[in-house]
Amino acid sequence: MTRSSPAPVPAPAPAQLPLPSYDPAEGPPTSTREAGGAVLVHSVEVRRSARRKRTVAARLEAGNLIVFLPARMSQAEEAVWVERMRRRLESRERRRHQNSSGELERRAQEMNKRYFGGKLKWSSLNYVGNQNSRYGSCTVGTGAIRLSESLLDMPGWVRDYVLVHELAHLLVPNHSPKFWALVERYPLTERARGYLIAKGVETEG
Ligand SMILES: [Zn+2]
Repeated sequence: MTRSSPAPVPAPAPAQLPLPSYDPAEGPPTSTREAGGAVLVHSVEVRRSARRKRTVAARLEAGNLIVFLPARMSQAEEAVWVERMRRRLESRERRRHQNSSGELERRAQEMNKRYFGGKLKWSSLNYVGNQNSRYGSCTVGTGAIRLSESLLDMPGWVRDYVLVHELAHLLVPNHSPKFWALVERYPLTERARGYLIAKGVETEG
């Protein structure tokens, strides 16, 4: 019996987004290596296509960022888009890594044990991409908790506060005094709220 060759690993779906016009006021691209983010992109390859008119796409293959651009795009636009896609894919990879490492789940169980007697149950718990100004959400009906990936750049005690906050929503869906009494079991609640307000991400649904 012959061994079949291993099935090729499917490439992740390219991040794709509509192409807005280039805004020079945006300024030069900034580094993606700040804020402790791992450097995942080691080389960049630009592929232009005459057929591609309206979209930019990118994918990451073993550290090589491949950016697909419309043929007509200028060099200035190219630089902006390469940087934008690099940031987007690096942040997606970081999110994936965080979500698959089990670390968030362990931390949530720890908070559950410490502040809720270990009684809480949730259906999913994940970091998600751009949540605008929201740092987290809890869908009470399904028990799905989502945290903004921006929390990954914040101190652990702030992340713990957000975890406790979202976990408390499993018991109390609103922001009533009963809710805050639960959250304030976490001793750094006031400090963390102040931190988030200063970051402009206090609003939360
Ligand atoms: Zn809330």
